[in-house]
Amino acid sequence: MRSPFALRLTDQHNRALTHPTPPAVPGTLYVVATPIGNLADASARALETLRQVDLLACEDTRTTRTLLARHGIERPAVALHAHNERAASAKLLAALGEGRSVALVTDAGTPGISDPGALLVEQAHRAGIRVVPVPGPNAAVAAYSAAGFAADRFVFAGFLPAKAAARRKALQSLDLPWPVILYEAPHRVLETVDDLVRQLGAEREIVIARELTKKFEEVARLPLAQAAVWLQAHAHRQQGEFVLVLGPGLVKEGDIAQAEHVLEVLLESLSASEAARLAARITGMPRNALYKLAVENRGKIPPVTPRRTR
Ligand code: SAM
Repeated sequence: MRSPFALRLTDQHNRALTHPTPPAVPGTLYVVATPIGNLADASARALETLRQVDLLACEDTRTTRTLLARHGIERPAVALHAHNERAASAKLLAALGEGRSVALVTDAGTPGISDPGALLVEQAHRAGIRVVPVPGPNAAVAAYSAAGFAADRFVFAGFLPAKAAARRKALQSLDLPWPVILYEAPHRVLETVDDLVRQLGAEREIVIARELTKKFEEVARLPLAQAAVWLQAHAHRQQGEFVLVLGPGLVKEGDIAQAEHVLEVLLESLSASEAARLAARITGMPRNALYKLAVENRGKIPPVTPRRTR
């Protein structure tokens, strides 16, 4: 099977034979997942893509060079990170528009997931540039796969806010009937676990996945009541990288459907906050979650049309 790069080169060659001045053909943007620790997790296709593209867009060019050096890959690289995303994306779009192929990579895992990259990808779509994912490692999915919560869906909530008050508020909307996946920094993990016990109760199960795919990897599934003890059992337990997977809450999916219905009816004649307040009293669901749902649904509910009077 010929690689897409071979195809592209052949197409360009054919065009050059038939058109004296061929029009610029847009390049392809490859979104490439890289290892989250164990360098052996780079897929053969990811490495082939990195080897073949004209240009690499890296969150940190030095980090990516470690992976490239291991596989003897040398490609021109530019930085695209949270602080230069707009300017770097504009330059990369220009290169793509001229027909150059670009591979977008971050320091670890899948670009665009709690990582930069979405802006470039969005702009590439708008500019009619082909976007090709090259899937691979992702910390959230790796942790979820090792968590063992049987559920037909999960919520990925990324990083919670760093400030304690905002974090506690965010947690109120995460008491859900499905597993919830969180990323957390090592210096905050203990505090977050304390907040989780307060918000969700000591019985709720949690999976703490630290240092996935690395030498000191640990995956522990335990009730929230024991999480702080587990984290403090060894000095190194609060070091490294963490994914937390919360087990599903006791609220059933049917309860949510019923709450949605109650909200929908109330929103026909009440404001979002008033509808959420009453729906919480009727259904016993958390008011904050209902308010969020009400605000999201407000636009979908047809305005009340006054009845004609004769
Ligand atoms: N885009 C990445 C992905 O696909 O997983 C996530 C990037 S985010 C900036 C980094 C966070 O992901 C870390 O703070 C940690 O919560 C989680 N993470 C990344 N690598 C990990 C690992 N090896 N073990 C556990 N968590 C990890």
